[in-house]
Parts: sequence; C-alpha cells; structure tokens
Amino acid sequence: MKVLVTGGCGYIGSHTCVMLLEAGYDVIIVDNLCNSKRDVVDKIKEITGKDVIFYKGDVCDYALINKIFSHHDIVAVLHFAGLKAVGESVLKPLLYYRNNIDSTLNLLEVMTKYNCKNIVFSSSATVYGAPKTLPIKESAPLSTTNPYGSTKLYIEGILRDVYEADKNWNIAILRYFNPIGAHKSGLIGENPNGIPNNLMPYIIKVATKELEVLNIFGDDYDTPDGTGVRDYIHIIDLAKGHIKALDKVLSGSGIVCYNLGTGHGYSVLELVKTFEKVNNVKVNYRIAPRREGDIAACYADPTYAFQELGWKAELGIEDMCRDAYNYVMKCKRNTSD
Ligand code: NAD
Ligand code: UDP
Repeated sequence: MKVLVTGGCGYIGSHTCVMLLEAGYDVIIVDNLCNSKRDVVDKIKEITGKDVIFYKGDVCDYALINKIFSHHDIVAVLHFAGLKAVGESVLKPLLYYRNNIDSTLNLLEVMTKYNCKNIVFSSSATVYGAPKTLPIKESAPLSTTNPYGSTKLYIEGILRDVYEADKNWNIAILRYFNPIGAHKSGLIGENPNGIPNNLMPYIIKVATKELEVLNIFGDDYDTPDGTGVRDYIHIIDLAKGHIKALDKVLSGSGIVCYNLGTGHGYSVLELVKTFEKVNNVKVNYRIAPRREGDIAACYADPTYAFQELGWKAELGIEDMCRDAYNYVMKCKRNTSD
C-alpha cells in the first residue's frame, strides 16, 4: 500500500517514514527541502533496508502533486509539509499562510480528483492557545496567538468543512505537544542551523559549546520551580502514533482528532538537569526575561488516543535527552571525519 508523505525529509516526517516502512507501507516522499536535506532519504533507506520514492518539489505546485498521483496508486497522505517557526511567522505572515494553506488546498484538491480521501494532518498543541485547564483535552477551547498557530487552526477548519461536504473522507488531525529526541541509530534527528528557537536544540548547542549560555525564559511562572512546563514527547513515540492514526483512517474513521503527548509536564530546569545527568555534560544557563507569547504550562491529556488508537507514549525524558544528544554528536563526528 502506497502512502504519500509530504515533508517526509523533515524531523517528524523522516521518523514516521521509518515506522511506515517497518510497518510494511510503501513510501513516497515529496519535500522541497526548504528545511531539510536530501540525504535524509538515504538515511531512511539505510535504517530500514527498504526503498523510498522521492520527489523534490513543492506541495504548493499543483502540477507536481497531480503528477505524483497520476503515477502512483496512493491510499493515504501523511501531511507534514509546512513552515513551523513561530517567530518567523510573526515577521512573515503571508509566507506562512501561503505555504501552509496553499499546500494543503492543493493536496486536498488533487486527492479529491484521484478519489484518495484518507489523510493524517500534523496539527499542534499551539491551537489550544493559553490553556485554562490542565491537562488539555481535545475538547478544550481553541485559539492562537501567532500566524503559525492560525495556519494550523485554519487547516483544521478546512478539513472539517471538507469532511462535512463529503463523508467519504477519513481525516486524522494530530495535535503534537513537544517532540524531541532522535532515532536510536543516530542517523536521523533534529539539528537546526543557526540559533535555535526551541529548547532542546538550544540546550545541545550550549552543551557542545557552539553557543555560550542557555537563556531560561522566566523563573517566575506559576509552576513548581518557576520555569515553563511542557509535555516533551520522544519522536519515536510520536512517529508510532502516526501509524496507529493511519490504521484508524484506513479503517474508515471519519474525522478524528487526537492529542499526541505523554501527559507529563517537565520544566525547563528539569529538562536541563536531566540532560546534564544522562549525557554527563554541563549546560550553562542564566535566567532571562519571559519570552513574549509564552505560556506557563502546557501538557496533554492523552487518554483519548489511548482509548481510540491503543497508543501511548512509552519512552521517558532520559531517553529523549540521550537520543537527541547522540544524534547531534554523531553528526559532528561525521562532519569532522
Ligand atoms: P520540519 O521543518 O523538520 O519538516 C517539515 C518539512 O516540510 C521540511 O522537510 C520542509 O523542507 C518541508 N516543507 C515545508 N514546506 C513545504 C512545501 N510547501 N512543499 C514541500 N515541502 C515542504 O518540521 P517538523 O518538526 O518535522 O514538523 C512537521 C509538521 O509538524 C509541520 O507541519 C509542523 O508545523 C508540525 N508540528 C511540529 C512540531 C514540532 O515541535 N516539531 C510541533 C507541532 C506541529
Ligand atoms: N525556552 C527557554 N529558552 C530557550 C528556548 C525555550 O527557556 O532558549 C523555554 C520556553 O520558554 C518554554 C520551553 O522552554 O517554556 C519550551 O520552549 P519551546 O520553544 O521548545 O517550545 P514551545 O514554547 O513552543 O512549547
């Protein structure tokens, strides 16, 4: 069974491709490589020993997506392609709306044309805005504070409208919490260029002395140690959630929506301390002012995904810290060889 993975060279997409191949699916990737590298395809092949079809191109390119569907009998799409940097989305809202929404509209149009009406969509816990109650259930009120989050919320709305108009669609909306970690092999993972926005890549760059010090954005939140609390989830658990969601979609789910998180919140300081301990490294940090737009705490109630999909996160925060660091160290060794 062939599945199309948009953004399959990216962080979450690449790990999910590995799981899809291991689960016996045939994988076609389309990625314009705006935030990833071509060699990820080779790494996916190396890990799994299986072949992958790769198209370098933009999901906003209707002709390309049409060509892919005309060449392959695709049963479902996992739609990861999108821009994801919150700060950049504030500075370049049109880029975000154009890229994330146009790509999705194109995809849905072509899927309709070829009668492929099964899709798993990458949404985000950002659609919960500043949550009023914790842990967060899927039924919590939705709002966003930046254009990136708005693209996710609009796309969720588009998917609901598409389903209302045609009940033959099967759609899984997955709201991710904070994915970190990497594949055990150290061949794929997350290693952004430049100064990272997210906590784990920043911690790693401080540990490897590429950056001097981690700024901890606020220690006066209403949390146990005053620093921000998030639901960090191992990328492998997250990828496994996609296989379960895809199975659900292919069994005729209608439209469904699941939180993919662990249900446990960890503070910035807890993550830093765990990272130092498991990797035996020092992470210099200082307390800095709060980051604008940040919320104190955010963690999932993942019960619904467990009830419906039989999925729950299994790997712990120590695995996440160890595997994330292992990947970056392996990248460094390879580039210095
Ligand atoms: P990523 O940037 O590593 O992967 C996205 C991939 O999509 C990249 O390889 C990029 O080159 C590609 N891409 C972007 N726009 C494209 C386009 N128009 N056409 C073709 N390819 C395109 O990001 P990720 O962390 O793997 O995230 C995957 C999805 O999950 C995104 O939609 C993101 O918004 C969502 N998400 C991510 C997180 C997170 O913390 N990583 C959290 C919640 C939701
Ligand atoms: N954070 C921090 N310093 C950084 C990056 C992040 O203190 O350099 C904090 C941030 O305030 C939040 C947590 O780490 O409490 C997770 O931030 P991230 O950007 O990774 O995820 P998000 O805020 O989008 O959930």
